[in-house]
Amino acid sequence: MALTGTKEYKNYIGGEWVEAAGGGTFETTNPATGDTLGVFPLSTREDMDRAVAAAKEAYETWRLVPAPKRAEILFRVAQRFVERKDELAEEMVKEMGKVRPEAAGDVQEAIDMTYYMAGEGRRLFGATTPSELPDKFMMSTRNPVGVVGAITPWNFPIAIPSWKIAPALVCGNTVVFKPAEDTPLLAERFVEIFEEAGLPPGVLNIVHGAGEDVGAHLVGHPDVPLISFTGSREVGIQVTKEAAPYLKHVHLELGGKNAIIVMDDADVDLSINGIVWSAFGTSGQRCTAASRVIASDRVYDELESKVVSAAEGLTLGDGLDDETDVGPVINRAALDKIHSYTEIGKDEGAKLLTGGEVATGNGLDRGFFYRPTVFGDVDPGMRIAQEEIFGPTTALMRATDVDEAIRIANGIEFGLSSSIFTRDVNKAFRAMRDLVAGITYVNAGTTGAEVHLPFGGTKATGNGHREAGQAALDFYTEWKSIYVDYSGKLQRAQIDNAERPAP
Ligand code: NAD
Repeated sequence: MALTGTKEYKNYIGGEWVEAAGGGTFETTNPATGDTLGVFPLSTREDMDRAVAAAKEAYETWRLVPAPKRAEILFRVAQRFVERKDELAEEMVKEMGKVRPEAAGDVQEAIDMTYYMAGEGRRLFGATTPSELPDKFMMSTRNPVGVVGAITPWNFPIAIPSWKIAPALVCGNTVVFKPAEDTPLLAERFVEIFEEAGLPPGVLNIVHGAGEDVGAHLVGHPDVPLISFTGSREVGIQVTKEAAPYLKHVHLELGGKNAIIVMDDADVDLSINGIVWSAFGTSGQRCTAASRVIASDRVYDELESKVVSAAEGLTLGDGLDDETDVGPVINRAALDKIHSYTEIGKDEGAKLLTGGEVATGNGLDRGFFYRPTVFGDVDPGMRIAQEEIFGPTTALMRATDVDEAIRIANGIEFGLSSSIFTRDVNKAFRAMRDLVAGITYVNAGTTGAEVHLPFGGTKATGNGHREAGQAALDFYTEWKSIYVDYSGKLQRAQIDNAERPAP
């Protein structure tokens, strides 16, 4: 039941804002204050079936809209994101907790991605290539696939939906969007903007609700050939299994355990800036967060004391406050999980250098705040150096040289982002080649992707697909190879050609 005065939001299905069939609801709250921000439909499988049916019907007309025309709508979407950037950023601070400049950056990423994909409306290049036979023409074209199920996490509530939905739409697919339960308000705003920009009914639908219920139903729906999922490794595996009987195309963007390497020739102060930004920005709740730092023996002690004092200098608070460096974590379960890893680290014998506790006082008790946490002299095999914590905790490790540092960096199951601070071009190039990760930064932290390069990871971070850049188009289209024979006779490839002597 909605609290008095709390706004109730709806699903968007077939161009109509509708309540959940069963009438169930859930609330979204501010992780810094506990305030309720809105009430959302706790949808049922029936709602999901209706959304898929709407998207399936809309696909038959949307796929035939010329791509440059589809793109014109995306340009208008991008403009609306620009106009509403401040308002969206403020709502994001309230619903997700990240500080205002980061929230504005999240919206900016959607602006960049939407403009970029709108530009694709006049490209979507295929290839033409000469035939081995005379009077024959050959080309490849990108074709849309159908209904895309887009399932997203809460940590980039505007950016991540744009990474999936902008390319899906420009390529001619329709979408059913199942956002995270912790950030339904931002997802609602995202869809509102597409409606305002004139997207036809049914082309983008949103169904709020529980991942294990309506999310799983979307994954297992026979009329949804593409699933693009960003979230945890565990759910990614489940999604893969549920989609397997239908041989669906599944795109997974999962967890990370990203390392920053600092060599003895590095600018250590610069590396500290990179570490602090990557480890504690967004309270460490980024898939690309630097939860490991591997420092060369010669700089380790200096780095350790500088990281600790930088971590202790960070101000925790509500992200709307300009003084705040680090906002809350998303919810109580996240806070408990992060703290459990502090206990695990201590039990494993790592040195807790700072943090390691829930932050209280100064109004922090109303929300879910965790002190930036640094462990020292961590063994690379420890759980705190292997498992994704998804909070403001980082593990410092020692390495004797670049080879050992790269070995430690690679010695995990994930492979999303990586970084090296060095002034030695030889070491930089070794790292660029040998770090087994989808992204490598040189002299920058582990976060900071731009939308026109592929984004994604190796090993357990995903399943080989990439988001963003041209790579995204490969997921949202299927190649068709077309042969046009204008010789007026039957020409057999490989056979007639083989019989003809070279001139
Ligand atoms: P999560 O896996 O719990 O949830 C992600 C989404 O999946 C939510 O919308 C949820 O409702 C839905 N879901 C849950 N169970 C489902 C099921 N059985 N079937 C279908 N959908 C289901 O993840 P989270 O806590 O929201 O996000 C944090 C995780 O996301 C971290 O592991 C982080 O590294 C990862 N992440 C990865 C990237 C990347 O690009 N690689 C980016 C951001 C976050």
